[in-house]
Amino acid sequence: MSRRSAMKKPNDKAKRLAVLRRRLKRKTKRKVIRPTRKAERAYIAGLRDIVTDLAKLVNRSLMPWLHQRYTPWEAPQADHPLSFTDDFTTRLNQLRESYAWYGQDAPLLLPDTSTTGAPPAPPAPPAHTARSSAGSDAPFGQQIRRLAEAKINVAAAEGTEAVRQQVNAAVGVDLGAVMRQEQLTDYVAAAVQENVSLIRTIPDRFFGDIERKVLDGYRSGRSLKRLAQDIQGVYSQSDFNAQRIARDQISKITSDVMIRRMKDAGVERFRWSTSADERVTGNPAGRYPNAKVKCWAIAHRDIGYGPGVYLLSEGAEVNGEKGVYPGRAHIADRCIAVALFPGIDYIPWDE
Ligand SMILES: [Zn+2]
Repeated sequence: MSRRSAMKKPNDKAKRLAVLRRRLKRKTKRKVIRPTRKAERAYIAGLRDIVTDLAKLVNRSLMPWLHQRYTPWEAPQADHPLSFTDDFTTRLNQLRESYAWYGQDAPLLLPDTSTTGAPPAPPAPPAHTARSSAGSDAPFGQQIRRLAEAKINVAAAEGTEAVRQQVNAAVGVDLGAVMRQEQLTDYVAAAVQENVSLIRTIPDRFFGDIERKVLDGYRSGRSLKRLAQDIQGVYSQSDFNAQRIARDQISKITSDVMIRRMKDAGVERFRWSTSADERVTGNPAGRYPNAKVKCWAIAHRDIGYGPGVYLLSEGAEVNGEKGVYPGRAHIADRCIAVALFPGIDYIPWDE
């Protein structure tokens, strides 16, 4: 190579880079396209309904029973030949089994006992033989499968649509026709399965908490009035827990689908985009500056590609864990990935 060409080339390259940089500066204002998150609101509502049904069942069946039977523990108990604990456990297990079978219909199927004044017993599931042959086809199982399937499909479609719009806004190519929902069938099936078992933890935890509150109240001599407040607290806690599950799952599903769609579209880099509000973890001016996982820091960290930019093939390293993607950094993470394009958002390596 002659001295002349060796001198000329870097100058050309510098010019090309300067042009590219100017162009990049103008284009960085592109609006961040986020998933609509309608699925999240609908899923939250669906899981909260489960807690409402559980509370209805307890209010109509267990509370009147407690009103008749509950007296804080004091030895000896002459007026109750059977122990309160055993009777309560039997009653609670009836409620558990009834809900596990009938789900949302359990409170509706409670017998009308207004004339007798007896606390209505929860409807018993069908006899054991009928139950085992039906397997997971119990009404409750079907209800939660339908709920999870519907909302997860919408979440997957929202993730897909966000990436379609991101690509379209950046390079003007519409990938809508090649991003088919059938490509996600296996993914959606796995997510539905996982969500069905997660939803089952809502009644499990709910009845477990009710059991502990009542037995603890009994042992410690708490009044029925105080106990009723404790049970109210279980409703709130369970409601919070249901919302958290819904938020967390929709974040994860949206994240997985967006990352997969970007990989399929040949995207190599993404920018970690927070929801840019005071709830972003690690935001020094926000509500959780000392959170264990700091999305604010991840979105500002520069590992060599610019602030908050990571390789799609590797994800980010978060507290020693590799391969973490936005929406999966912590419970109910609201961050998303923004697809970046060579020549538009960054200068490719070979320049
Ligand atoms: Zn985040």
